[in-house]
Amino acid sequence: MIISVASGKGGTGKTLVATSLALSLKDTERVQLIDCDVEEPNAHLFLKPVITHSEAVCIPVPKVDDEKCTYCGRCADVCVYHAIAVVPKHVMTFLELCHGCGACSYLCPEKAIAEEGREIGIVESGYSDGVDFAQGKLNVGEALAPPIIRKVKEFANHDGVVIIDVPPGTSCPVVEAVKDSDFCLLVTEPTPFGLNDLVLAVETVKELKIPCGVVINRAGVGDGKVEEYCRRESIPILLTIPLDTEIARLYSNGITLVAGMPMWKSDFVRLFEKIGDIVHERTGRLER
Ligand code: SF4
Ligand code: SF4
Repeated sequence: MIISVASGKGGTGKTLVATSLALSLKDTERVQLIDCDVEEPNAHLFLKPVITHSEAVCIPVPKVDDEKCTYCGRCADVCVYHAIAVVPKHVMTFLELCHGCGACSYLCPEKAIAEEGREIGIVESGYSDGVDFAQGKLNVGEALAPPIIRKVKEFANHDGVVIIDVPPGTSCPVVEAVKDSDFCLLVTEPTPFGLNDLVLAVETVKELKIPCGVVINRAGVGDGKVEEYCRRESIPILLTIPLDTEIARLYSNGITLVAGMPMWKSDFVRLFEKIGDIVHERTGRLER
């Protein structure tokens, strides 16, 4: 089963939930945590994994052969990302804008464009205290997260439980990380900002036809509008974590919630059971 842990904005406790869920299941399930928050992966700060494998992720970018080029401008016309421009007797490439789609080399009438790999980040895998681990890291200054996310998701062990730490927000990297999940856990705070971002996140997962449930973190701040919204939209609230200075202290010291306060383990096991019930009920309904 693949469970993605997402939130409409950063700093809501997504990694706190993902890491504690993984550690709570390790005694009964083969569990893996994949950190797809590739711009700022931080699950490793809590799980402190031993990394056993690392590889570069490259995208194919154009390399123009001036001997063959006739400066016809076709490549610049087809590049929707404005990564290539043709001026008199010169083809300029802006490789940081290139998405590696291959359209320019495919359509060049002179076959003057070859492709070469450009490194945009790395993926790593390893293990940590009974939890398999993988993460992607986008190089500083790079903007293209989806190829790294696709690559790190290739490490998913489909025989066990895979927990995906999703980038914050609702843009392309989120869709890339969440798609193919059996369930999406949305972590939010009970504040107007939390509600606003939750609504956007719910719309995204509904579009992807993935069932979802909510974890309310820092319960006690804000108001009851998140609960009202969830009731109205029939979205289950599966776990509530209170605003607690001890939890905040653990987090800021890189200690997972279940390691610092082991009584939470049973709550996370129950959370997993509730997710399993929802997924099985839905699978049964789809099969009927
Ligand atoms: S399409 Fe090919 S021939 Fe035309 S300008 Fe681009 S590289 Fe040169
Ligand atoms: S590979 Fe695609 S994105 Fe990159 S320069 Fe060519 S057309 Fe543009």
